[in-house]
Amino acid sequence: MAIPVIAIVGRPNVGKSTLFNRLAGERIAVVSDIAGTTRDRVSADASWGDDRYILVDTAGIEGNSEDIFWPDMQSQVLKALDEADLLIFVTDTGYGLTDADRDAANLIRRYNKPVVLAANKADNVEREQQAVEAYELDLGDPIPISAYHNIGIGDLMDVVMDSVATDDDEEVGSDVRISIVGRPNVGKSALLNALTGEERALVSDIPGTTRDSIDSRYRYVNGDDESDLMFIDTAGLRRRGKTEQGIEKYSALRTIQAIERSHVSLIVLDASEMVTAQDLHVGGFASEASRGLVVVVNKWDLSRELKLTREEAEEEIRDRFKFLPNSSIVFTSALTGRGLDRLLKATVDTYAEWSKRVAAGDLTRVVIDALATHPPPRAGYKRVRLRKVAQTRTGPPTFTFHMANPDLIHFSYRRYLDNRLRDAFGFDGSPLRLRFVGGA
Ligand code: GDP
Ligand code: GDP
Repeated sequence: MAIPVIAIVGRPNVGKSTLFNRLAGERIAVVSDIAGTTRDRVSADASWGDDRYILVDTAGIEGNSEDIFWPDMQSQVLKALDEADLLIFVTDTGYGLTDADRDAANLIRRYNKPVVLAANKADNVEREQQAVEAYELDLGDPIPISAYHNIGIGDLMDVVMDSVATDDDEEVGSDVRISIVGRPNVGKSALLNALTGEERALVSDIPGTTRDSIDSRYRYVNGDDESDLMFIDTAGLRRRGKTEQGIEKYSALRTIQAIERSHVSLIVLDASEMVTAQDLHVGGFASEASRGLVVVVNKWDLSRELKLTREEAEEEIRDRFKFLPNSSIVFTSALTGRGLDRLLKATVDTYAEWSKRVAAGDLTRVVIDALATHPPPRAGYKRVRLRKVAQTRTGPPTFTFHMANPDLIHFSYRRYLDNRLRDAFGFDGSPLRLRFVGGA
């Protein structure tokens, strides 16, 4: 996946270079009170959390500059606008909006790129309130920041990374990447073989025979639906105490890597042992990684012998895997082939939910309704006020709530909103990410 290019744009003197330095962590660009000091485009490799990106500073956009360097600077800016995946448009809350801001906004609008609006120099509360005037630019919600005093940068970058990730997702393409994870000997290799019909992975009674990841592709056709599936094979996750060294640790790492690389994780259990602590551990990884989750109870051909019913098995699973996001539970036998069609269907359906985007209007209605029915707690005069909610990403579905006093949203309220979103939109088998961003 290509690293996104993020360009900081706006009229001169709003604090673009200061923001650049703040984010790049190095004083590469020249900062000055003199308009247009940053003549050359400066760029840096930067990261926010785990996400890497390329940050580009630009000369100020100024429509009718007398500056003899302007044609040159302009071409640099236009080139940056062309190349960027996302633009951070900076305004100055201290000085207020100017015609130069409006001209610059009109220029960048033509590029049809995602824009995040940063109302800079919001060093104090009055300035922060001033940020609302930037709504006039019609570039979305202004996020008040102070590049100089390091205020609001986290909020800004959360929105930036969410918006830029959306674009990558759209390009992910048709492959559904699937990791098959679970303890040794539950039948992962046997399932892979049975699903893909190829003797790719070695099956054996000796735990841990399948040491290396072997990816294999498979085309799934169900009526009119066709999907390309890519199975990422993995060695089983070893018992915790043994994961310290050598091959054992290697395998655990493989499992985690496979989960990270996949869109949907199939957590495979052995019907004869059902849920063990180690299974919870593997499931926990997949859930933390926000992958789509399907639970597979394999060796179901033994169920009669084991005197185990589906209802009992389901109850145990829902009870032990607390984090399961309404996942499908599929009963399979890699030996007889039973349940494999259902497993493929559940996998493709889970992927669809994980990568689903809901209509903006429906989302707003559901959230407003949820807040009205059961308002979040107040703290004195402080109360949560929703400005806007948007689905800022798919895979996993991510929702960004712009609101006053987002710190009043606690764990239980988060879960309430999560449930309401699921009631309205489904998302079965997919974890959801909810982000709460403060703002004017
Ligand atoms: P650029 O022309 O947009 O790149 O702007 P600069 O980064 O060169 O900043 C212009 C001026 O604004 C400098 O004097 C900065 O110190 C000042 N400045 C930048 N950010 C802030 C801020 O958050 N608060 C205040 N008060 N001043 C800032
Ligand atoms: P892995 O370590 O999870 O990859 O497990 P394997 O695929 O190597 O399978 C371990 C053992 O379980 C082998 O002896 C398989 O034949 C057996 N096995 C796998 N799937 C099934 C199944 O659905 N039913 C039964 N009865 N045995 C199975």
